[in-house]
Amino acid sequence: MFDINKIRQDFPILKRTVYNRPLVYFDNAATTQKPQVVIDAISKYYEQDNANIHRGVHYLSQMGTQAYEESRKAVKTFINAEHDYEIIFTRGATESINLVASSFGKKYLKQGDEILLSGMEHHSNIVPWQIICEEKEAKLAVIPITDTGELNLTDIEKRFTDKTKLLAITHVSNALGTINPIKRLIDIAHKYNIPVLIDGAQAVSHLKVDVKELDCDFYCFSGHKVYGPTGIGVLYGKEKLLEEMPPYQGGGEMIRKVTFEKTEYSSLPFKFEAGTPNIADGIALKAALDYVSSIGLFNIALYEAELLHYATNQLLNINGLKIYGTAKEKAAVISFLLENIHPYDAGTILDKLGVAVRTGHHCAQPIMDWYGIPGTIRASFALYNTKEEIDGMIKSLQKVIEMFS
Ligand code: PMP
Repeated sequence: MFDINKIRQDFPILKRTVYNRPLVYFDNAATTQKPQVVIDAISKYYEQDNANIHRGVHYLSQMGTQAYEESRKAVKTFINAEHDYEIIFTRGATESINLVASSFGKKYLKQGDEILLSGMEHHSNIVPWQIICEEKEAKLAVIPITDTGELNLTDIEKRFTDKTKLLAITHVSNALGTINPIKRLIDIAHKYNIPVLIDGAQAVSHLKVDVKELDCDFYCFSGHKVYGPTGIGVLYGKEKLLEEMPPYQGGGEMIRKVTFEKTEYSSLPFKFEAGTPNIADGIALKAALDYVSSIGLFNIALYEAELLHYATNQLLNINGLKIYGTAKEKAAVISFLLENIHPYDAGTILDKLGVAVRTGHHCAQPIMDWYGIPGTIRASFALYNTKEEIDGMIKSLQKVIEMFS
C-alpha cells in the first residue's frame, strides 16, 4: 500500500520551511531528496566504519569492503543484471557515459564512423561523444523528434548504417518527461549488430528497469536521482563488451601487477574503478535502492502517474500556458511556459512563494533550440509529492500571472 503520509515522514527535509512557507519541492529531475535511511547510512559509515576498502586486512576495512560489495549486489538486483561484476561504480550518469565514450570510442571508433543519438539528449549524452568523435574524426547522427516531444521513428531502420557504431539514447527525457520506446530501438539496433547505451538517469526512480529483458549493452544512472547520495553512479555493461574495452583511468585498485615496463589490469569491475572509491555514498546507495524497492516501483509509478495527470489538467486550465512534451508515455515531468513571461522570472517568483521548480534549458539545449524557446519552467514530481502541493503551485502561478498582467 502507498501511504503518502508515512512516506513524507521518511524525508526529514520535507518538514522544513523556505521563506516561512512549507517547502514544495518540484525539482526532482535535478535531484531527489533523501530518506532518513540514506542519511543514516552515510553517518553510520563515518561514525563507526570508516576505513579504506578492498586491500585492508583489518576489521574495519573488511567490513567496509563487504558493505560496498553488498551495494554492488543490490544494484545488480535492482536492475536485474546477470553478474555483479557488470556493475561499475562511477560518480554519476555523466561519468558513466564519459567512461563508455572514452573507452568504447578508443577501441571501436574510426574515421567516418557515427554515434547515433536522439534530439532529446541531455548534454551528458552529447558532449562526451563529441569529444571522442573529434579525436577519432567520427561524427554524431541524430534521431529527430516530433512536435509532441516523441522520437520521430519514421525511417528509423535507415538510420542504422554500416557507419553506426553505437546507439546512445535516453530512457526518459529530463526536459520533457517522454518515455522512449527503448526496447524497440534496442531490438532494431541489435538486428544490425549495433550496441546500445541507455541513459537511465531519469528512469530508475520512476520505472522498473530490467537490463536483461531490455538486452541493452550499457545502462547508466546517478544515485542522487533515485533518493541516494550525490557523487555515486552506476554503469552497467555486458561482460563481453566491458572485457574488451580498455581501462578509462589508471591508478590504484584497477591493477593486478605493475612494473615500469608493463601493467596488468585487474578483472571486472575493478579494471574501471581506479583509486579510492566513494565508499560512504556507495554503501548508502544500497539504502536508497532498498527503500525504493520496499515501496515498489509499480506503486511509485502508479502514484506519480496520478500526480502527472492531475497537474497536467490543472495547468491546462491556465490561460496562456503551454506544455512542451505531450508524449503518450510520460514520466512525472512537466515543462511549460506562460505567455509573455520569461521562465526565469516565473521561477524566481514561484521560489519566493515556496515552490521549487527549475527554469532554463535543463542541460538539453538542442531540444530548446528545436522548439525555438530559451527554456521552460519544469515541475518534476517524486513519490513524496502531493496533489495539495500541486494546488499550491497552481495558485502561485496564478499570482505570477497577476503580477505580470
Ligand atoms: N542524463 C539525464 C537524462 C539527466 O537528466 C541527467 C541529470 N540532469 C544526466 C544525464 C546527468 O546526471 P548527473 O549530473 O547526475 O551525472
